[in-house]
Amino acid sequence: MANLGITTVGEAKEIRGMNLIAAHSHIRGLGIDTETLEPRATSQGLVGQARARKAAAIILKMVQEGKIAGRAVLMAGPPSTGKTAIAMAMAQSLGPDVPFTMLSSSEIFSLDMSKTEALTQAFRQSIGVRIKEESEVIEGEVVEIQIDRSVTGGHKQGKLTMKTTDMETMYDLGTKMIDGLTKEKVMAGDIISIDKSSGKITKLGRSFTRSRDYDAMGPDTKFIQCPEGEIQTRKESIHTVSLHEIDVINSRTQGFLALFSGDTGEIRSEVRDQINIKVGEWKEEGKAEIVPGVLFIDEVHMLDIECFSYINRALESELSPIVIMASNRGNTRIRGTNYKSPHGLPLDFLDRVVIMPTYPYGPEEIKEILAIRAQEEEITLSPDALALLTKIGQETGLRYSSHLITTASLISAKRKSSVVEVGDVQRSYKLFFDQERSSQYLQEYEKKFIS
Ligand code: ATP
Repeated sequence: MANLGITTVGEAKEIRGMNLIAAHSHIRGLGIDTETLEPRATSQGLVGQARARKAAAIILKMVQEGKIAGRAVLMAGPPSTGKTAIAMAMAQSLGPDVPFTMLSSSEIFSLDMSKTEALTQAFRQSIGVRIKEESEVIEGEVVEIQIDRSVTGGHKQGKLTMKTTDMETMYDLGTKMIDGLTKEKVMAGDIISIDKSSGKITKLGRSFTRSRDYDAMGPDTKFIQCPEGEIQTRKESIHTVSLHEIDVINSRTQGFLALFSGDTGEIRSEVRDQINIKVGEWKEEGKAEIVPGVLFIDEVHMLDIECFSYINRALESELSPIVIMASNRGNTRIRGTNYKSPHGLPLDFLDRVVIMPTYPYGPEEIKEILAIRAQEEEITLSPDALALLTKIGQETGLRYSSHLITTASLISAKRKSSVVEVGDVQRSYKLFFDQERSSQYLQEYEKKFIS
C-alpha cells in the first residue's frame, strides 16, 4: 500500500497531548515499579490510589501484550478521585503507536451524526493498523548526471550513472526522477538513495573519494563512505494508522482532508466492511498487524440503553479495542429506560465488565496532590495557604480546591506578592463558589432567575 501521507497514530497522540485537559498536565505516567507492578507512593505526578493504579498497571500490561482486546473496564468512584487522571496516565504509558481515544459520553449527543456512528468512529479510532511497507532502494554514489534537454513536449529525459566502490551501473531516469534530482540539486559525488517504487530521492551525504564539486557544497554537507557491494537493498518501513483513518481516506464522499477538519460525517457501512476484509487480507499476508488500543469513555452513565447495546455488540467483534469507562454515579437510572442500576449501566452489560473502584483521598494525599498542582503551575504557596486549601479540598473536592490555587495566585499577583498566602485563598474562596454554595445561592435567589 502506498504511504497514506497522513498523521500517524503516534503523531495524533502528540497533537492530542498538547490539549490534554490542563487539569491533568502534572500526570506523566502510572508511577509503578515495572518489575512488580506495585505503585510507588508518589510517582510520575500520581499520589496514592494504590489499588486502582495497580489494577490499571495490570490492564496496561495486558494491552501491551495484545491480550485484552474486546474487554471492558469500569472505573467507579466518587468525583475527583482520579479516574480520569489514571486513564491519562495509562495513555502516556502505552507505546507511541498504540491508539488512545478519549470520549466524553455527553459529546455523543451533541455531534452532527447518529449516536452509533459516533461510537463506531470512536471504536475504530482506537484500533491501530501497523502497516509494513517494503520498498526497493538503490543506494550509491552519483558519478554523472546527463539530462537530455533536447526532448520536447515538456518531458525531460536523462541518465544517471551511479556506482559503488566495486561496480558502476547506469540508470535510465523517468521524468519523476529527473525532477527529484533537479529539486534536490543532486550532483556528482553525492551519495543518494532512490526508492524505486515512489521515485523518492534522499541525499545521504557526499563521498570522501571525490573532490571536484566541493565548491558547490552547502555548510551542512555530510561526508560518508561510499557504500560497498550490492547497491540494491530492500528497506522495510512501518507506520501505524487507525482503522478510522483508513475508513475516512477510502470513503469517497469525504476524502482524506476530512481528517484534518474533523468533519468526517457518517461513513457507509459497505466502506467499513470492505476495509475490514482488506485489513484481514493484509494480516494474512503478513503486511499488517492489528494493534488494539484503548477507548476511554468518561461519564459513561450519560450513555443510553441503545449505546450500551451497541458497545456490547462491538466488544464481541474481532476488531475491538479495550474499553475503559468511568462513572461517579451510584445507583442511578439507565438513560432511555425507567430502570435503576449500579452506575447507570444495564445489568447484562455490567456482567461483562471488570470494575476498578477508586476511593476518596485522605488529607495527606489531598495536600500532596495540591502541592504538585501548584508546582506544575509554577505557583508558590505558603505552608498555611496549602493547609487551608487542603481543608477546602477535603470539604469540597480536589477539583474546586485546585482551581482556587490558580485564582488565589492571580489575587496574590495583584498585591505584587510572589507567594500565595492564606488571605489570597480566603478571598478567592469568597469570590468563587463551589458546587454546594452555588446550589444554596440558587435556592435563595431562585425567583430572581429567568426560568
Ligand atoms: P469525576 O468523577 O468528577 O470525573 P475523576 O475521578 O475523573 O472525577 P479527576 O478528574 O481525575 O477525577 O481528578 C480531579 C483532579 O485531581 C485532576 O486535576 C486530577 O489530575 C487530580 N488528581 C486526582 N487524583 C490524583 C492522584 N491520585 N494523583 C495526582 N493527581 C490526582
